[in-house]
Amino acid sequence: MGGIFHCPVEIKAGSSNLAQAYNPERKQYFSSELLACLKKSEGDEKVVGIADVDLYVPRLNFVFGEADIVSGTAVVSLCRLRQEYYGLTSDEALFLERATKEIVHELGHTFGLGHCPNSKCVMHFSNSLADTDLKDMYFCNKCRPKIIP
Ligand SMILES: [Zn+2]
Ligand SMILES: [Zn+2]
Repeated sequence: MGGIFHCPVEIKAGSSNLAQAYNPERKQYFSSELLACLKKSEGDEKVVGIADVDLYVPRLNFVFGEADIVSGTAVVSLCRLRQEYYGLTSDEALFLERATKEIVHELGHTFGLGHCPNSKCVMHFSNSLADTDLKDMYFCNKCRPKIIP
């Protein structure tokens, strides 16, 4: 991640209060609620929360993640990035690749980037996991200069 953004990255363990974001009817967690719970520590430029639960926002079946440009925070769900979720054999390398893409994507939003029409660009919108697998974990030549001078 630091290699892509050219900045130091710190990984912290911590848990937000998942219970209040849980929707028992949907059996999913409201991603905006988790996002609102994320707190930045002093010196943090951006914060991404990694959640191992299925996330949703109203009107969508699920979301891979959500970002808030104003606060510079984002959440990413690992749930649907695993082969096991679809009844397939576990593939750790593929899982890590997908997680990296989704985290870079949401971080891109916190840096003010919108969705990119280039299907290989990490800022391309993932409607499904197939979209995620198709895109690279890097910003395209149009997106990169907007955040990395
Ligand atoms: Zn997006
Ligand atoms: Zn792009």
